[in-house]
Amino acid sequence: MNEGTNRVAVVTGGSRGIGRAIALELARRGCHIVVNYNANAACAQEVVDAIRAADGKAIAVQGDVTVLAEVETVIQAALAAFGKIDILVNNAGIARPGLILMTREETWDAVVDTNLKSAWLCAKAAIKPMMRARYGRIINVGSTSGKMGIPGDAHYSASKAGLMGLTKALAREVAPRQITVNLVAPGAIAVGMSAQATPEMMAEANRRIPLGRWGTGEEVAQAVAFLASDEAGYITGHALVVDGGLSM
Ligand code: NDP
Repeated sequence: MNEGTNRVAVVTGGSRGIGRAIALELARRGCHIVVNYNANAACAQEVVDAIRAADGKAIAVQGDVTVLAEVETVIQAALAAFGKIDILVNNAGIARPGLILMTREETWDAVVDTNLKSAWLCAKAAIKPMMRARYGRIINVGSTSGKMGIPGDAHYSASKAGLMGLTKALAREVAPRQITVNLVAPGAIAVGMSAQATPEMMAEANRRIPLGRWGTGEEVAQAVAFLASDEAGYITGHALVVDGGLSM
């Protein structure tokens, strides 16, 4: 991405963890950022303040990405503030690990709605202005669990595998309008929902990861920023795995 292209990026769940790193990296590369969040306004404001302190442009917009009306409000706020949407990063997600016999139906619904349905809703809302502009970059944040399947996390794994199908189908559908749709699949990342891993869990994962360590939010952000760049214009329907070799 060329510095100063003033691309406008909406990052769902941009207030914490990996989404925060993505928002900061896209801003560093010259994008104007819409930091979406659901519950933690202070975290979102901290990201906005950090971007503005570096002379970037950003706003925070509350909206539950599982609710179409709220998603439309977020997209309208982005258009009102910056006039267009070039990049949509569907990053918001939750994990509620549990064995199938211990997991309630409500948990399945919450995880699948937040991780999968949300990406469909956000794309649905953002694609119209992208189509008009004949330009767009949609990046879905998946997970290696969607590729490998994680025991004790069937609902999460299913939601992330579903994102891959959504990515490919949508990529084919909107390609004639020069909109690309890709997925970044992080493995074990030492921020956000994995931050509560115990030292024992981290050491065990390190043994299974060929590169021998957990990844950083910034390493995921670099992959997202590449797929969001003008230079990635001939890549669509792709899953870029950022997992230190874990899932190969
Ligand atoms: P965090 O729990 O740190 O952050 C989640 C973000 O999503 C927050 O900004 C949160 O906002 C937002 N969010 C959650 N629910 C909603 C909602 N209904 N509407 C709007 N925003 C919402 O997670 P991570 O940074 O760890 O995860 C980010 C993405 O990366 C997820 O999709 C996750 O599945 C994926 N991932 C993470 C890995 C990891 O190891 N951390 C590994 C593989 C994939 P708020 O606080 O305001 O609710």
